[in-house]
Amino acid sequence: MKILLAKSSGFCMGVRRAVEMVADASNDNSACIYTYGPLIHNPQVLKGLEEKGIEILEAVPEAGSGTVLLRAHGVPPQTKDALRKSGFQLLDATCPRVIKIQTIIKKYANQNHAIILIGDKNHAEVIGLLGYAGERGHVVSNMKELDLLPAFDNAIIVSQTTQNIEFFEAVKAWAKTRHPQYRIFETICDSTEKRQAELKKIADLVDAILIVGGHNSGNTRRLFEIARKSGKPAFHIETEKDLESIEFDAIARAPYVGISAGASTPNWIIKNVYRTLEQLPYKRNGWAHRWFSLQRLLLLTNIYVSLGAGCLTYACTKLQGMHHDTPYFLISILYVQSMHIINHLIGIKIEKYHDPGWISFYHRRRKPLAITAVCASVMSLAVAFALGTGPFLLLSMMTVLGLSYNLRLVPASIPWTPYRRVRDIPGSKTVLVSSAWGVLAAILPPLAINGTITWVNGIIFLWATGLGFVRTAFFDILDMKGDRLIDKETFAILLGEKRMMRWLHRILVGLIALLPVLSIFQLVSGLGILLSVCPLLMLGVISAYRNHYLLPGVRLEFFVETIFILAGCIAFVWPAVS
Ligand code: SF4
Repeated sequence: MKILLAKSSGFCMGVRRAVEMVADASNDNSACIYTYGPLIHNPQVLKGLEEKGIEILEAVPEAGSGTVLLRAHGVPPQTKDALRKSGFQLLDATCPRVIKIQTIIKKYANQNHAIILIGDKNHAEVIGLLGYAGERGHVVSNMKELDLLPAFDNAIIVSQTTQNIEFFEAVKAWAKTRHPQYRIFETICDSTEKRQAELKKIADLVDAILIVGGHNSGNTRRLFEIARKSGKPAFHIETEKDLESIEFDAIARAPYVGISAGASTPNWIIKNVYRTLEQLPYKRNGWAHRWFSLQRLLLLTNIYVSLGAGCLTYACTKLQGMHHDTPYFLISILYVQSMHIINHLIGIKIEKYHDPGWISFYHRRRKPLAITAVCASVMSLAVAFALGTGPFLLLSMMTVLGLSYNLRLVPASIPWTPYRRVRDIPGSKTVLVSSAWGVLAAILPPLAINGTITWVNGIIFLWATGLGFVRTAFFDILDMKGDRLIDKETFAILLGEKRMMRWLHRILVGLIALLPVLSIFQLVSGLGILLSVCPLLMLGVISAYRNHYLLPGVRLEFFVETIFILAGCIAFVWPAVS
C-alpha cells in the first residue's frame, strides 16, 4: 500500500496560533485560564487542554477572574465587552484573517449596506461575524436561502473562511446576474482553498481517501464531502481507533490511499493514523510483516537506538586509533538502553500525545522493562568502574543527570521559577541526549585509555554530538505539535519547524566537511572521509521528509537509527579496505 498524505493536512495558521497562545498562557500564568467556547473542534486537543487545567467558558458569567482566550473563530464585540465587564482579562487569538472580515463587515454595516454572510448559521465564526453586522446581517447557507433574500440597494457578500469554494463560486455567479451592484469580497481562507484543491488532486490519484478530524469540525466535514463527491471510497475518522469501525477492507485492500485532515486536526493524530495504515499491507504479506514487526519491536524496545549509540562509539574509537573498543561499545549500549527505558516509564503520561503505541507497550511491560533498565544501568557502571575512577565518575554523573530529567527537583513551595525539572529547561532534552552520545563516543574512551583529553578528541566529540543533536532535534520536529500541549520546550518549538530545519541543514553540512578536513591534515585516519557518509545520509533522510517522500512512521525512524549502525559497520570494514 502506498500512502499519500496531503501537505496541507493539519493545523492551519490561525488554529496553530491559538493553540500556542493558550499553551504559552497556561505555562506563564498561574491564574485561571479559560477559553471562550471550545478552542478548536477537536476532542483530543480539548482533552489535552483540560488536563492542563484550561477550562471552557460556555457563557459569560456575572463575575469572574483570570484570563479568557478568544479562539481563532472570534466572538461578537458585545461578548468581548461583557467578558471585560465580568472582570476577565482577554487574550485575543482571533485569526488575523477572521479579523479582516470583521473589519470589512463593520465598515460596510456603518455605511448602511446589507451584509450577506455565506456560512453555517450555528458556526462560532459566523456568530462572531454577525455581531459586527448588527441588524444588517443575513446568513445564507444554500442557494434556496439566497433566492429568498429581499433585493437590497447596497449589499456586500462575504463568506465564512472555511466555506466550500464551489458554493461560493455559485453565489458569485448568482450575484453577477441578479444583483450586479452587490460588492463581493473573497474571504475564503487560502488555507481552506489549498486544502480543498489539494484533496481534489489527491482524489484523482488514489483508490481510497481518509479524512481525519473531529466529527464536529465544519472544515473537516467539508473535506469529507469533497472526498465523497470524487466517487472514491471515502471515510471520515477522528483517530486511528476509528479505522476499526469503518469498512476496513476498502482501505486495507486499496493499493494507494490518500489522507487529508482538517485545520483543527493535530499532527500527532495524523501521524498515528499514518502509522496504523503503514502496518496494514505487512499484515497480509508474511515476510514483509515479520520485517516490519521486527523494525517496530527494535524501535519500541530501544534495542536499535542503543545499538546505534554503541556503533557510534565504536566508530569514534576506531577514528581515534583506539583498539580496546568493546567496553566502550558496551557502556554506550547499556547506558542509552537504561536511560531511554527509565525516561519513557517516568514520562508515560507525556508520551501519549506522541505515540499511543509506546504507551500500550510500556504500560503492559512496566515491570520487566524497569528491571531491564536497572540491570543495564548497573552493568554500565560496573564496566566503567572496571575501566577506572575517571570513567566511573563521569558515567555516574551522566546517570544521575539522565535519571533526574523527568523528576521534579524544585518543590512547588518555591514559586518564582518555572524550571522545576531538567525537562522544563528549553531544549534540555536535545542538548542532554546529544552531549551524552558525544561523551560516550569521544570523551570516555580517551579518558579511560590515556587519562587525558586532546583537542582532536574534542573535535570528534563535536562531530558525534552534532550527529546525535540532529537525530534528536529531528525527532523533536516530528513530535512538536504534541510537545506544545505538554509544556515541553524543544528547540523545534522555540525556533519553529522551518528555522529548525534550516539549522539542522547547516549543522549537517558542517559535519559532512569536518572529518574529511581532519583526515586531510592527517589528524585522524582516512576513516574520517568514509564516515562523512553518515551526516550525508542524514541530510538525505531529512530532505526526503521535507519533500514528503518519507512520512513520519516506523520506516522513517528506522532509517534515521540505521545511519548510526552504518557508522559502526563502516568502521568495522575499514581495516579491510584501507
Ligand atoms: S482556516 Fe484560515 S481563517 Fe480560519 S483559522 Fe485557519 S488560517 Fe484562520
